[in-house]
Amino acid sequence: MSKKFVYMFSEADGSMKNLLGGKGANLAEMTKLGLPIPQGFTVSTEACTKYYEDGKKITDEITAEIKASLAKLEEITGKTFGDNNRPLLVSVRSGSRASMPGMMDTVLNLGLNDVSVEGFAVATGNPRFAYDSYRRFIQMFSDVVKGLPKSQFERVLDEIKESKGFENDLQLSADDLKEVVEAFKALYVKHEGSEFPQEPVEQLMAAINAVFDSWNNERAVIYRRMHDIPGSWGTAVNVQSMVFGNMGDTSGTGVAFTRNPSTGERGIYGEYLLNAQGEDVVAGIRTPEPITRLENDMPEAYAEFMRLATKLENHYKDMQDMEFTIEDKVLYFLQTRNGKRTAQAALKIAVDLVEEGLCTKEEALMKVDPKQLDQLLHPNFDVEALAAAKVYGSALPASPGAAAGQVYFNADDAVAAKKRGERVILVRLETSPEDIEGMDAAQGILTARGGMTSHAAVVARGMGTCCISGCGEIKINEAAKTFTLGGKTVAEGDFISLDGSTGKIYLEDIKTVDPEISGDFSKFMGWADDVRTLKVRANADSPKDVINAVEFGAEGVGLCRTEHMFFEEDRLPKIRQMIVSNTVAEREAALAELIPFQKADFKGMYKALAGKPMTVRLLDPPLHEFLPQEEGDIRELAKEMGLTFEALKETVESLHEFNPMLGHRGCRLAVTYPEIAVMQTRAIIEAAVEVIAEEGIDVIPEIMIPLAGEVKELAYVKNIVVETAEKVIAEKGVKLKYLVGTMIEIPRAALTADLIAAEAEFFSFGTNDLTQMTFGYSRDDAGAFLDDYYKKSILESDPFARLDQTGVGQLVEMAVVKGRSARPDIKLGICGEHGGDPSSIEFCHRVGLDYVSCSPFRVPIARLAAAQAVLNNR
Ligand code: PEP
Ligand code: MG
Repeated sequence: MSKKFVYMFSEADGSMKNLLGGKGANLAEMTKLGLPIPQGFTVSTEACTKYYEDGKKITDEITAEIKASLAKLEEITGKTFGDNNRPLLVSVRSGSRASMPGMMDTVLNLGLNDVSVEGFAVATGNPRFAYDSYRRFIQMFSDVVKGLPKSQFERVLDEIKESKGFENDLQLSADDLKEVVEAFKALYVKHEGSEFPQEPVEQLMAAINAVFDSWNNERAVIYRRMHDIPGSWGTAVNVQSMVFGNMGDTSGTGVAFTRNPSTGERGIYGEYLLNAQGEDVVAGIRTPEPITRLENDMPEAYAEFMRLATKLENHYKDMQDMEFTIEDKVLYFLQTRNGKRTAQAALKIAVDLVEEGLCTKEEALMKVDPKQLDQLLHPNFDVEALAAAKVYGSALPASPGAAAGQVYFNADDAVAAKKRGERVILVRLETSPEDIEGMDAAQGILTARGGMTSHAAVVARGMGTCCISGCGEIKINEAAKTFTLGGKTVAEGDFISLDGSTGKIYLEDIKTVDPEISGDFSKFMGWADDVRTLKVRANADSPKDVINAVEFGAEGVGLCRTEHMFFEEDRLPKIRQMIVSNTVAEREAALAELIPFQKADFKGMYKALAGKPMTVRLLDPPLHEFLPQEEGDIRELAKEMGLTFEALKETVESLHEFNPMLGHRGCRLAVTYPEIAVMQTRAIIEAAVEVIAEEGIDVIPEIMIPLAGEVKELAYVKNIVVETAEKVIAEKGVKLKYLVGTMIEIPRAALTADLIAAEAEFFSFGTNDLTQMTFGYSRDDAGAFLDDYYKKSILESDPFARLDQTGVGQLVEMAVVKGRSARPDIKLGICGEHGGDPSSIEFCHRVGLDYVSCSPFRVPIARLAAAQAVLNNR
């Protein structure tokens, strides 16, 4: 039997997400549950994959299957596609395995043409509605299938309204809408050079093609990269018979959540519009009514809706985000999915669901996206600064958090400003998915239009970006790049502040402060800690960072980059003195001055850790990083240091390297200047001995030698470290256990990990350098071309953010196996940026590392990701 690519809703169920996408599988599941679902069929994700394999063609076989399913749908609905009297109309929507709100395309009212629209007008007894449906169809079809922008149709519509002196769409009569249809068709002809397609099957196949194409549109590709969704998944296409919310005042459409997606509070939450089609609510073109008002407008439909919403939540054991339509008082569900939510809501919902007995702790752990947790750790406004600030306006609190920054009016300007290091507030009339990069670059988003379920609101909540939407009070002048609010004009680059939790807008830069963590957070994180087997450490370089990290749950420090300590104002002159030294004695004298600083830092960190382990890395970066490169700066420093300009310039030049990343850095520095390793080891050991004596806590320093590629260089530096450590311990007359290990950052170290392990008591995978050296991509320059790689589908994600498991991962795995073969009790961790990335953490779990180490703010993410790794791999 040949493979099946198309499934009627009644032929499938909720378990078939991978094949039918989330929307398709849920429509099937809801059909099975007996909910009122307009019937239809789903063209599978495998058909999408095949479409791309076949050079963007839908095969005859699949076309035949689609037509056969259409025939079945005609039978179910008792309507005929293309019928001149009672035409079957359908919606065509994308739906991938992971929900990607607004990223792909939708066509509604498909099946209408010049003839059937008349029959439709008669059959429904509502010509205004029929022509409105047709003009919407022409507009959406042209946009999605032919790339003719919606805005051009909107302009035509506005012109017609203006010529008649109307302010809103509802004032247009059936005859007016006939005029709109003709104008829209003319626009189509002008753009396409052919008539608007009249044959419904042709319309349908074109729309399915377009949805498949939309899987690879730019915004979908960006969204996938942000959410770790592989391009190979493809999208399904749902073809569903239409029901109409725009049939008059006994009809309507809405979007609702079973719990509040911002706070997690129990209780229905949502919006609807009478006499409207779904896109009106989602696109935020008209500002909708709160769902509870439906109880007054249509009590029976409301009661039924509430009953079924509860049924869905109980069935899916999670907060549901539902789209519904009421067609002449009859309720239909158009989709349901686990709702997107803020991190705060995610935690509350997860904890409540367990407490309500709806799910287990382990199930609850899977309901929170680890990456989201860092929203909880983001700033709020300083209370006093906020009290002193003047509120200029307010609108819908669409996504919580506080943001202050400079105003930009489009995505490109926002991205550019972020690159310049500015804090950015994106101000838009309304956002659309094309704005995604700009939204990502922004600290906060302010829109003039749109409700709580508008694009801006949904996407911002998912990103954890503060957002205020639907602010009709602001008047935006996009050309001049200004807006006015409360009598004040704000220009591009001016500072404003947004409170996404209250919806208040301030026209000044308000100080922000770190947030406090709720009781749900520690309860939930405790559950994660009970499940995970990977330990989580933090990368931290100062006592302050360590205190932060421990508060977020770090179980140690996995990487202390000692060079960061040298960049502080009081230390920089001393390390510079060391660099310009001409003799070993001079260098040692300079280093001796650094010891007290290093020791004090280490002591502070050991104390904050109170017995938890700390890995300290010896100096890593090339020395030129500590000296100025510009002539003027060199001149100034020479004066400060009492050197001649020429002498200092000569030192700077002598340190110049063509490839500093592959140059004199890492353990190579200690090979040339052993006295640096001596000084650092002394500081590490003395600090430990003193803290043990002063605090009575356990300290087992882990001394890490960076960038080894050859076991002999490691052995050489290790000898210096051990000799020094033993000498200090003997001097102090104490006993102290310490470890000496290395980083695996060079492919050769991974390839020879068994030899390396003979000298190293632990490995920490430095996957930043390991990625750089495995791909041969410069860490500092890859940004310049990676965008082209994403656009051309050569890479799906940034290998510096998400571990490349295929290549770099092999080296990691090999080093784990070889390292353990040579030293069974070797300690294994990761301290590259990947240590805070959920998918990379899952990989670390699978290959059997002992711990991951990441920046303090990502520690909670890592704790949860490590727990999910256990649950996913059971
Ligand atoms: C690494 O290379 O992964 C690492 C942690 O070291 P750094 O980023 O300091 O080079
Ligand atoms: Mg490194």
